[in-house]
Amino acid sequence: MDYEGIMHAAGHRVTPQRVMILDAVCDGGGHTTLKQVYARLRTMDPSIDRSSLYRTLKVFVRLGLVVSAETLTGETVFEIPRRQPHHHLICRTCGNEQEIGHEAIKGMVMQVSREYRFKVDMDHLVLYGVCEMCQNDDRSPDRPKDAAV
Ligand SMILES: [Zn+2]
Ligand SMILES: [Zn+2]
Repeated sequence: MDYEGIMHAAGHRVTPQRVMILDAVCDGGGHTTLKQVYARLRTMDPSIDRSSLYRTLKVFVRLGLVVSAETLTGETVFEIPRRQPHHHLICRTCGNEQEIGHEAIKGMVMQVSREYRFKVDMDHLVLYGVCEMCQNDDRSPDRPKDAAV
């Protein structure tokens, strides 16, 4: 990804710290929380502070360099977008997370766009529900660990 070009085009300077932050998100290899990114950064540069990290991540999300999603616990996770959009299924009973390809929901999203003339952000969606395992497990009644979103 030409992140330098994207940052320049948006009028942002490419600082070593910003590159380091992108690297730290990338090192997560998937969803990574602010806390995890922060911990990784601290090992590289102890002077970095949390609020500037947070601001930078928000800029990255706006520029499309990073995608974010909210989890059940209300925590925001970050991730480097991949060539193919992907989405997540999160079980609200056990918290299990499953990744799905774009094909699975493409039809639904297209129908929404057609019917409501609404352009859905489809680079990263999170769908909540109950996973197969929990549906079959009557020993653990459906009790969400956290309040439903
Ligand atoms: Zn994701
Ligand atoms: Zn489950």
